[in-house]
Amino acid sequence: MTLETRSLSILPRALEILESSFHGLPLFEPSVNIEKLETVLLEVADRMKDNYPYPHPQYIGQMLKPPHPVARLAYTLSLWINPNNHALDGGRASSAMEKEAVARIGEMFGWKECLGHLCSGGTMANLEALWISKRLKPGSKIVASSQAHYTHSRICSVLEIPFDSIPTDCNAKMDLESLEKALESENIGTVVVTMGTTATGSFDPLPSILELRKNYGFRIHADAAYGGYFTLANNLGQQTRDILNHVNQVDSIVVDPHKHGLQPYGCGCVLFRDPTVGIHYKHDSPYTYFTSDELHLGEISLECSRPGSSAVALWATQKLLPLEQNGEFARGLETIRETALALFDFLVNESRFVTALAPELDILIWGLNGKRASEISSYSNDFFELTAERGLHIAKANLPRSILEPHWPDIVWDQDTVTCLRSCIMKPEVTGWIDDIKRIMIEAADAALAKR
Ligand SMILES: *Cc1c(COP(=O)(O)O)cnc(C)c1O
Repeated sequence: MTLETRSLSILPRALEILESSFHGLPLFEPSVNIEKLETVLLEVADRMKDNYPYPHPQYIGQMLKPPHPVARLAYTLSLWINPNNHALDGGRASSAMEKEAVARIGEMFGWKECLGHLCSGGTMANLEALWISKRLKPGSKIVASSQAHYTHSRICSVLEIPFDSIPTDCNAKMDLESLEKALESENIGTVVVTMGTTATGSFDPLPSILELRKNYGFRIHADAAYGGYFTLANNLGQQTRDILNHVNQVDSIVVDPHKHGLQPYGCGCVLFRDPTVGIHYKHDSPYTYFTSDELHLGEISLECSRPGSSAVALWATQKLLPLEQNGEFARGLETIRETALALFDFLVNESRFVTALAPELDILIWGLNGKRASEISSYSNDFFELTAERGLHIAKANLPRSILEPHWPDIVWDQDTVTCLRSCIMKPEVTGWIDDIKRIMIEAADAALAKR
């Protein structure tokens, strides 16, 4: 069975333990019309069939990774309480679990004493980091690379911060000369360093950007929404390893537990190296902070109500799979990366395909061998359909000529972007399916080439 359901049998026992916390109170039996509920739920199951098969190893398309069963169960269990991690009044246990889970993430990046919290995702987490940047460097610009997530320019527009994008080199990394030119001529308060771009998983050159910081004194925000957890993996390229080894020197970090951290959606995390930035969040809630003098997470978060269940799920996952090098969680990431490298090797050696940048993480970019930019693009569109028909699901990405041209010097540039094929491996289980994936890719490539 593709959907794991065996672990569900633990839930009633866990609920009994939770139920015992109500023993001091008069008996209360909530009523529910099971028949009507069942009718609706079965209809929901039917509606939910209209999806790509995300949990299956033959889905290697977008950034979609099933949550760990322990995360799913802990989340579900906690919904009987439905804690709100805004104030301790609404979720004492889950707030404590959030503080512990976030502290472990900070330690993963080498920060013993940082300030951080969970939020709805990478977008909100980045928004909080850039909002603090604006508070600390008022009137200055924020820059990110042209391959940074589009959210940065949009957040800057929401926060009314001037924003510029810095070109990348042919490896989709921020171009240092262009950055230095911008630093010389403009008042740049914050440089966003992407650690694992969304399109290609590329890392901006943090060590050199840290050198530039000595001269120009800007803040550095690391957007490690996708790539952050890979700091635990022992099989990264030397350059990527070196970049991650410097992440403790940045000012703020974003990582998405709902990307590579085995969590359901609704779990991003923002961390600040200097805990005193918490003063910028200061506000007086007239309603909520009465039951304790301890820190209420709503005092250091822009969002008010937040799902305590997210914190419970993350805590449970980190309890089962601690964030440590050489641990089981790290091994999962290493397996994913090995699989990406094996598939990249196949694509490099198979004449039907062309590759450009080598994967820094687990994201592959390739195309079918063609003579013109437009031809490769239409091959990608065909290949995407032809693999899906054969039960293999991949994704596509538009990449600019500036990145691809040095890799593909012989093609005719009849358009300025190429639709490439893209695959986020994400699941360790894919490793057992490499041969099936290769076979379908060859069949689909032959079918695509035969159509011309
Ligand atoms: C996914 C991603 C984001 C946006 O995060 P959401 O969780 O989708 O809101 C931002 N930056 C990078 C690098 C990402 O990969």
